[in-house]
Amino acid sequence: MYYLGIDVGGTTIKGIIIDGSGKISAEDRTETKAGGEAVAKGIASLVGKLLKKLNLSAGDVAGVGIGCPGVIDSARGRVVFAGNLGINDYPLAQEVACLTGMKIKLTNDANAAALGEAKFGAGSAYGDSIFVTLGTGVGGGIIIGGKLFEGGSSAGTEIGHMVIVEGGKSCTCGRRGCWEAYASATALIEATKEAMLSDKNSAMWECGGLEKVTGETPFIYCGRDGSARRVVDEYIGHLACGIVNLANIFRPEAIILGGGVSAQGERLNAPLREILSREIMGGTGYAPVKIVTATLGSRAGAFGAAALFMAEN
Ligand SMILES: [Zn+2]
Repeated sequence: MYYLGIDVGGTTIKGIIIDGSGKISAEDRTETKAGGEAVAKGIASLVGKLLKKLNLSAGDVAGVGIGCPGVIDSARGRVVFAGNLGINDYPLAQEVACLTGMKIKLTNDANAAALGEAKFGAGSAYGDSIFVTLGTGVGGGIIIGGKLFEGGSSAGTEIGHMVIVEGGKSCTCGRRGCWEAYASATALIEATKEAMLSDKNSAMWECGGLEKVTGETPFIYCGRDGSARRVVDEYIGHLACGIVNLANIFRPEAIILGGGVSAQGERLNAPLREILSREIMGGTGYAPVKIVTATLGSRAGAFGAAALFMAEN
Protein backbone atom coordinates (compact mmCIF):
# COMPACT_ATOMS: atom_id res chain seq x y z
CA MET A 1 0.00 0.00 0.00
CA TYR A 2 1.12 3.54 -0.79
CA TYR A 3 0.51 6.77 1.14
CA LEU A 4 0.25 10.18 -0.44
CA GLY A 5 1.15 13.33 1.47
CA ILE A 6 0.63 16.95 0.45
CA ASP A 7 2.24 19.96 2.13
CA VAL A 8 0.60 23.26 1.24
CA GLY A 9 2.97 26.20 1.60
CA GLY A 10 2.67 29.89 0.83
CA THR A 11 4.56 29.58 -2.47
CA THR A 12 4.58 25.87 -3.36
CA ILE A 13 2.46 22.79 -2.81
CA LYS A 14 4.70 19.73 -2.33
CA GLY A 15 3.60 16.16 -2.69
CA ILE A 16 5.15 12.74 -2.07
CA ILE A 17 4.12 9.13 -2.33
CA ILE A 18 5.76 6.86 0.23
CA ASP A 19 5.47 3.20 1.16
CA GLY A 20 4.75 1.96 4.68
CA SER A 21 8.43 2.17 5.64
CA GLY A 22 8.67 5.82 4.57
CA LYS A 23 10.61 5.23 1.37
CA ILE A 24 9.83 7.93 -1.22
CA SER A 25 8.43 6.47 -4.44
CA ALA A 26 7.48 9.72 -6.15
CA GLU A 27 7.80 13.42 -5.47
CA ASP A 28 6.63 16.60 -7.20
CA ARG A 29 5.52 20.15 -6.56
CA THR A 30 3.37 22.90 -8.00
CA GLU A 31 3.00 26.63 -7.48
CA THR A 32 0.49 27.76 -4.83
CA LYS A 33 -2.31 29.96 -6.09
CA ALA A 34 -4.39 31.84 -3.52
CA GLY A 35 -7.98 30.97 -2.68
CA GLY A 36 -9.68 27.78 -1.51
CA GLU A 37 -10.76 26.58 -4.95
CA ALA A 38 -7.34 27.26 -6.48
CA VAL A 39 -5.60 25.36 -3.67
CA ALA A 40 -8.00 22.40 -4.02
CA LYS A 41 -7.42 22.28 -7.79
CA GLY A 42 -3.65 22.60 -7.33
CA ILE A 43 -3.65 19.67 -4.91
CA ALA A 44 -5.86 17.53 -7.16
CA SER A 45 -3.67 18.06 -10.21
CA LEU A 46 -0.52 17.32 -8.17
CA VAL A 47 -2.14 14.11 -6.89
CA GLY A 48 -2.90 13.14 -10.50
CA LYS A 49 0.69 13.79 -11.57
CA LEU A 50 2.12 11.76 -8.68
CA LEU A 51 -0.14 8.77 -9.37
CA LYS A 52 0.75 8.88 -13.07
CA LYS A 53 4.49 8.81 -12.29
CA LEU A 54 4.07 5.39 -10.67
CA ASN A 55 1.25 4.18 -12.90
CA LEU A 56 -0.97 3.90 -9.85
CA SER A 57 -4.72 4.27 -9.61
CA ALA A 58 -6.53 5.92 -6.71
CA GLY A 59 -7.23 2.50 -5.17
CA ASP A 60 -3.51 1.75 -4.74
CA VAL A 61 -3.18 4.62 -2.26
CA ALA A 62 -4.61 4.51 1.27
CA GLY A 63 -5.57 8.16 1.03
CA VAL A 64 -4.30 11.67 0.60
CA GLY A 65 -3.13 13.47 3.73
CA ILE A 66 -2.87 17.24 3.55
CA GLY A 67 -0.93 19.60 5.81
CA CYS A 68 -2.10 23.18 5.45
CA PRO A 69 -1.10 26.39 7.23
CA GLY A 70 -3.65 28.27 9.29
CA VAL A 71 -6.44 27.26 11.66
CA ILE A 72 -7.60 23.81 10.59
CA ASP A 73 -10.67 21.86 11.71
CA SER A 74 -9.18 18.43 11.08
CA ALA A 75 -12.26 16.46 12.16
CA ARG A 76 -14.39 18.20 9.50
CA GLY A 77 -11.60 18.67 6.98
CA ARG A 78 -12.07 22.43 6.86
CA VAL A 79 -9.63 25.29 6.62
CA VAL A 80 -11.16 27.68 9.17
CA PHE A 81 -8.72 30.47 8.33
CA ALA A 82 -5.46 30.69 6.42
CA GLY A 83 -4.49 34.33 5.88
CA ASN A 84 -1.51 33.77 3.59
CA LEU A 85 -3.56 31.47 1.32
CA GLY A 86 -6.55 33.84 1.22
CA ILE A 87 -8.84 31.14 2.64
CA ASN A 88 -11.69 31.76 5.04
CA ASP A 89 -13.78 28.75 6.07
CA TYR A 90 -13.36 26.36 3.14
CA PRO A 91 -14.14 22.61 3.03
CA LEU A 92 -10.77 21.68 1.52
CA ALA A 93 -10.87 17.92 2.28
CA GLN A 94 -14.34 17.56 0.77
CA GLU A 95 -13.44 19.54 -2.36
CA VAL A 96 -10.23 17.57 -2.98
CA ALA A 97 -12.18 14.34 -2.40
CA CYS A 98 -14.69 15.43 -5.07
CA LEU A 99 -11.91 16.23 -7.54
CA THR A 100 -9.86 13.06 -6.96
CA GLY A 101 -12.37 10.46 -5.75
CA MET A 102 -9.94 9.65 -2.94
CA LYS A 103 -10.12 9.68 0.87
CA ILE A 104 -8.70 12.88 2.34
CA LYS A 105 -7.43 13.84 5.79
CA LEU A 106 -6.40 17.36 6.71
CA THR A 107 -4.26 18.78 9.51
CA ASN A 108 -2.26 21.90 10.30
CA ASP A 109 1.13 22.07 8.51
CA ALA A 110 3.18 22.25 11.72
CA ASN A 111 1.31 19.27 13.12
CA ALA A 112 1.99 17.37 9.91
CA ALA A 113 5.72 18.19 10.16
CA ALA A 114 5.72 17.02 13.80
CA LEU A 115 4.15 13.72 12.78
CA GLY A 116 6.59 13.35 9.87
CA GLU A 117 9.63 13.80 12.10
CA ALA A 118 8.11 11.52 14.75
CA LYS A 119 7.43 8.69 12.30
CA PHE A 120 10.29 8.90 9.85
CA GLY A 121 12.77 11.49 11.09
CA ALA A 122 14.60 12.57 14.23
CA GLY A 123 11.80 11.36 16.52
CA SER A 124 11.39 7.84 15.15
CA ALA A 125 13.01 6.27 18.24
CA TYR A 126 10.63 8.03 20.64
CA GLY A 127 6.94 7.64 21.44
CA ASP A 128 6.58 11.13 22.93
CA SER A 129 8.16 14.05 21.13
CA ILE A 130 7.64 17.75 20.56
CA PHE A 131 8.60 19.35 17.26
CA VAL A 132 9.58 23.02 17.37
CA THR A 133 10.12 24.91 14.12
CA LEU A 134 12.21 28.07 14.26
CA GLY A 135 11.35 30.03 11.15
CA THR A 136 9.35 33.16 10.37
CA GLY A 137 7.44 32.28 13.52
CA VAL A 138 7.73 29.51 16.09
CA GLY A 139 5.42 26.63 15.31
CA GLY A 140 5.27 23.10 16.44
CA GLY A 141 3.41 19.94 17.14
CA ILE A 142 3.08 17.48 19.98
CA ILE A 143 3.21 13.70 19.61
CA ILE A 144 1.97 11.64 22.54
CA GLY A 145 2.28 7.86 22.38
CA GLY A 146 3.08 8.08 18.66
CA LYS A 147 -0.08 10.06 17.96
CA LEU A 148 -0.61 13.68 17.09
CA PHE A 149 -2.16 15.74 19.89
CA GLU A 150 -4.07 18.61 18.29
CA GLY A 151 -6.01 20.08 21.23
CA GLY A 152 -9.71 21.00 21.26
CA SER A 153 -11.22 21.31 17.74
CA SER A 154 -7.62 20.76 16.55
CA ALA A 155 -6.86 24.41 17.38
CA GLY A 156 -4.26 23.81 20.08
CA THR A 157 -0.49 23.35 20.34
CA GLU A 158 0.27 26.93 19.33
CA ILE A 159 3.50 26.65 21.29
CA GLY A 160 4.97 29.83 19.82
CA HIS A 161 2.34 31.85 21.64
CA MET A 162 3.22 30.84 25.18
CA VAL A 163 4.35 33.96 26.98
CA ILE A 164 7.93 33.89 28.25
CA VAL A 165 8.17 37.63 29.14
CA GLU A 166 4.99 39.03 30.69
CA GLY A 167 4.33 42.45 29.14
CA GLY A 168 7.24 41.88 26.74
CA LYS A 169 7.55 42.40 22.99
CA SER A 170 4.39 42.69 20.89
CA CYS A 171 3.44 39.51 19.06
CA THR A 172 1.50 39.07 15.79
CA CYS A 173 -1.23 37.33 17.82
CA GLY A 174 -2.02 40.47 19.83
CA ARG A 175 -0.42 39.36 23.09
CA ARG A 176 2.89 40.55 24.47
CA GLY A 177 5.96 38.52 25.30
CA CYS A 178 5.19 35.40 23.26
CA TRP A 179 8.01 32.89 22.73
CA GLU A 180 7.75 33.53 18.97
CA ALA A 181 8.60 37.22 19.47
CA TYR A 182 11.97 36.13 20.90
CA ALA A 183 12.83 32.71 19.45
CA SER A 184 11.76 32.93 15.78
CA ALA A 185 14.31 33.50 13.01
CA THR A 186 12.55 36.83 12.47
CA ALA A 187 13.25 37.86 16.07
CA LEU A 188 16.86 36.67 15.81
CA ILE A 189 17.44 38.71 12.66
CA GLU A 190 15.89 41.77 14.28
CA ALA A 191 18.06 41.40 17.40
CA THR A 192 21.14 41.00 15.19
CA LYS A 193 20.39 44.22 13.30
CA GLU A 194 19.80 46.12 16.55
CA ALA A 195 23.13 44.85 17.91
CA MET A 196 24.92 45.95 14.74
CA LEU A 197 23.36 49.42 14.84
CA SER A 198 24.51 49.90 18.42
CA ASP A 199 28.03 48.60 17.68
CA LYS A 200 29.50 50.14 14.53
CA ASN A 201 32.70 48.13 15.10
CA SER A 202 30.98 44.77 15.31
CA ALA A 203 32.49 42.06 13.07
CA MET A 204 28.92 41.28 12.02
CA TRP A 205 29.08 44.25 9.60
CA GLU A 206 31.38 42.02 7.48
CA CYS A 207 28.26 40.12 6.38
CA GLY A 208 27.65 42.96 3.91
CA GLY A 209 25.26 45.27 5.74
CA LEU A 210 21.89 45.13 7.47
CA GLU A 211 20.01 43.83 4.43
CA LYS A 212 22.34 40.80 4.25
CA VAL A 213 21.65 39.68 7.83
CA THR A 214 20.23 36.17 8.22
CA GLY A 215 19.63 33.99 11.25
CA GLU A 216 23.09 32.55 10.68
CA THR A 217 24.94 35.90 10.92
CA PRO A 218 25.39 36.15 14.72
CA PHE A 219 26.44 32.47 14.88
CA ILE A 220 29.15 33.03 12.25
CA TYR A 221 30.77 35.89 14.21
CA CYS A 222 30.07 34.94 17.83
CA GLY A 223 33.49 33.32 18.26
CA ARG A 224 35.30 36.65 17.89
CA ASP A 225 32.72 39.38 18.37
CA GLY A 226 31.19 40.40 21.70
CA SER A 227 28.02 41.84 20.18
CA ALA A 228 27.42 38.69 18.14
CA ARG A 229 28.08 36.58 21.26
CA ARG A 230 25.49 38.55 23.22
CA VAL A 231 22.88 38.15 20.46
CA VAL A 232 23.46 34.39 20.36
CA ASP A 233 23.47 33.99 24.15
CA GLU A 234 20.27 36.01 24.57
CA TYR A 235 18.60 34.13 21.73
CA ILE A 236 19.54 30.76 23.20
CA GLY A 237 18.34 31.92 26.63
CA HIS A 238 14.90 32.80 25.25
CA LEU A 239 14.74 29.60 23.21
CA ALA A 240 15.73 27.54 26.24
CA CYS A 241 13.05 29.20 28.39
CA GLY A 242 10.27 27.88 26.16
CA ILE A 243 11.94 24.50 25.74
CA VAL A 244 12.22 23.99 29.51
CA ASN A 245 8.57 25.04 29.88
CA LEU A 246 7.51 22.43 27.31
CA ALA A 247 9.77 19.81 28.89
CA ASN A 248 8.28 20.45 32.33
CA ILE A 249 4.68 20.27 31.09
CA PHE A 250 4.90 17.30 28.72
CA ARG A 251 8.15 15.59 29.67
CA PRO A 252 8.65 14.27 26.14
CA GLU A 253 11.48 11.87 25.33
CA ALA A 254 12.75 14.28 22.70
CA ILE A 255 12.38 17.86 21.57
CA ILE A 256 13.09 18.12 17.86
CA LEU A 257 14.24 21.45 16.44
CA GLY A 258 13.42 22.27 12.83
CA GLY A 259 13.23 25.37 10.64
CA GLY A 260 16.02 27.65 9.43
CA VAL A 261 17.73 28.35 12.76
CA SER A 262 17.97 24.62 13.57
CA ALA A 263 20.65 24.35 10.86
CA GLN A 264 23.07 25.62 13.55
CA GLY A 265 22.92 22.08 14.96
CA GLU A 266 25.18 21.54 17.96
CA ARG A 267 26.03 25.26 18.19
CA LEU A 268 22.41 25.56 19.29
CA ASN A 269 21.69 22.15 20.82
CA ALA A 270 24.70 21.89 23.15
CA PRO A 271 23.99 25.11 25.14
CA LEU A 272 20.26 24.29 25.12
CA ARG A 273 21.00 20.88 26.67
CA GLU A 274 23.11 22.53 29.34
CA ILE A 275 20.34 24.97 30.31
CA LEU A 276 17.72 22.21 30.13
CA SER A 277 19.68 19.90 32.43
CA ARG A 278 20.19 22.75 34.91
CA GLU A 279 16.61 24.03 34.92
CA ILE A 280 14.30 21.09 34.20
CA MET A 281 12.12 20.11 37.16
CA GLY A 282 13.71 17.28 39.12
CA GLY A 283 16.90 17.15 37.01
CA THR A 284 17.63 14.87 34.08
CA GLY A 285 18.56 11.65 35.89
CA TYR A 286 14.97 10.42 35.77
CA ALA A 287 13.04 10.84 32.49
CA PRO A 288 15.71 12.60 30.41
CA VAL A 289 14.65 14.86 27.53
CA LYS A 290 16.82 14.75 24.40
CA ILE A 291 17.32 17.80 22.18
CA VAL A 292 17.86 16.82 18.55
CA THR A 293 17.81 18.44 15.11
CA ALA A 294 15.08 17.55 12.62
CA THR A 295 16.28 15.37 9.74
CA LEU A 296 13.56 15.57 7.07
CA GLY A 297 14.01 19.26 6.23
CA SER A 298 11.30 20.74 4.03
CA ARG A 299 9.84 17.25 3.40
CA ALA A 300 8.70 16.76 7.02
CA GLY A 301 5.21 18.13 6.36
CA ALA A 302 4.56 15.94 3.33
CA PHE A 303 5.84 12.85 5.19
CA GLY A 304 3.57 13.57 8.15
CA ALA A 305 0.58 14.25 5.91
CA ALA A 306 1.12 10.87 4.25
CA ALA A 307 1.35 9.26 7.70
CA LEU A 308 -2.17 10.50 8.55
CA PHE A 309 -3.43 7.40 6.73
CA MET A 310 -1.17 4.91 8.47
CA ALA A 311 -3.12 2.57 10.72
CA GLU A 312 -2.50 4.11 14.13
CA ASN A 313 -3.21 7.70 13.10
ZN1 LIG B 1 1.73 35.46 20.20
